[in-house]
Amino acid sequence: KSRRRWTKVVKVLEEFEEGCATPVEKLRQVVDAMAVEMHAGLASEGGSKLKMLLTFVQNLPNGSEKGVYYGLDLGGTNFRVLRVQLGGQRSAILEPGVERQPIPEHLMTSTSEELFDFIAASLQKFVEKEGNGSVALEGKLRELGFTFSFPMKQASVSSGILIKWTKGFSIHDTVGKDVSECLNQALERRGLDMRVAVLINDTVGTLALGHYHDEDTVAAVIIGTGTNACYLERSDDIIKCQGLLTTSGAMVVNMEWGNFWSSHLPRTSYDIELDSESPNPNDQGFEKMISGMYLGDIVRRVILKMSQESDVFGLSFSKLLTPFILRSPLIAAMHEDDSPDLREVARILGEILEIGDVPLKVRKLVVKVCDVVTRRAARLAAAGIVGILKKMGRDGSGSTASGKVKGGSHTKMRRTVVAIEGALYTSYTLFREYLNDAIADILGEDISSHVVLKVMEDGSGMGAAVLAAAYSSSG
Ligand code: ADP
Repeated sequence: KSRRRWTKVVKVLEEFEEGCATPVEKLRQVVDAMAVEMHAGLASEGGSKLKMLLTFVQNLPNGSEKGVYYGLDLGGTNFRVLRVQLGGQRSAILEPGVERQPIPEHLMTSTSEELFDFIAASLQKFVEKEGNGSVALEGKLRELGFTFSFPMKQASVSSGILIKWTKGFSIHDTVGKDVSECLNQALERRGLDMRVAVLINDTVGTLALGHYHDEDTVAAVIIGTGTNACYLERSDDIIKCQGLLTTSGAMVVNMEWGNFWSSHLPRTSYDIELDSESPNPNDQGFEKMISGMYLGDIVRRVILKMSQESDVFGLSFSKLLTPFILRSPLIAAMHEDDSPDLREVARILGEILEIGDVPLKVRKLVVKVCDVVTRRAARLAAAGIVGILKKMGRDGSGSTASGKVKGGSHTKMRRTVVAIEGALYTSYTLFREYLNDAIADILGEDISSHVVLKVMEDGSGMGAAVLAAAYSSSG
């Protein structure tokens, strides 16, 4: 009888594994779908689940920037204020000051004025601490790069209207307002000589910082709690606002790729349930398969199913019914447990899920579930990245930016750098390895050797400050 139960559990795993399979042919379909959706999103407003938002960033930092600039990064429960000092000639960025603070919870649902007053007050304290140090700006207007990672509609590089709050914020009177103006007014109320020079989201900051260090950087991807990407698009290809864009040949497009969807994505019953029980069903489909917020909960759902099909996890598994009890760092810890008896897996099952005495063969099963979930996530993210390269004509498939098709496998491939950020890539080694390997799988060794993924630590805040420098009125 126990053998039959074991067989059932193994079957749950096998079916799940099959449902999550990402052979390279499938990944190529995802690549193509991403490129097609990008086209559609650029063709018309609402033309795709990819919003392909215009950022009005038409020039990226090139390393010649000089001076002292500020960054403010508001993207979740924390916000950061920082100052950078740039010396020109692609110099190392001195970061003489950084401060991280939680947003008091009551402000997340208060009024616009209260929230921005609080932020302005923090900026003021930060500036006052400068004293007469080496970076003091004698009477000059301080320029700020504002990273505001919520959906907004921009009409210029320094302004944007909030479409809706997410991530626990709910302040009705900000919606529909220009968030730069909200902050500028709060700064003015405090008599602080500072203004918003650029308003961006976190991926644009990461791209800007990447481009400051390396001009071959043309796209940026973040895989952390959520996921998103942006890239540099030719203005001619941004059909939905042709004629509007004249000053430069290119513009950074914020893809909002977390909402990407394609029938080619390998989706299982666990994904469908996770989605339908989420506060935003049918939304952020790609994000729900690859980002840190969700990986652990997919694993939980599979283990729960196993525990319901058999008694391999004993009889008390109520903790498994708690949504989001398994965070992705725990998945990483179990996945990367290299002790022969999987001690870490046993510890997490015991301490977090309150499931004791799990035999080794069952622990191995848990590791396998983590592996399947993470491998799929990393490989789909890789396919998304190659999709962007394809749209840019940088996937080596022979069609160059000028539209000329070259034959043979020795098409000259430009070096292409993708800036990347987020704990899944930077802190989860197996995720990173799976992602890197998948890019090589899809593109082949030859072409993928020209594609460099570069980690941009603190890109969202630092990038904003550096971009403020690039757009500085004082040059
Ligand atoms: P952000 O919230 O701005 O995206 P991060 O890039 O730090 O910030 O990403 C946080 C996400 O990454 C969380 O979902 C967290 O659970 C997850 N995470 C953090 N460290 C690890 C790790 N070592 N392995 C796997 N996931 C991790």
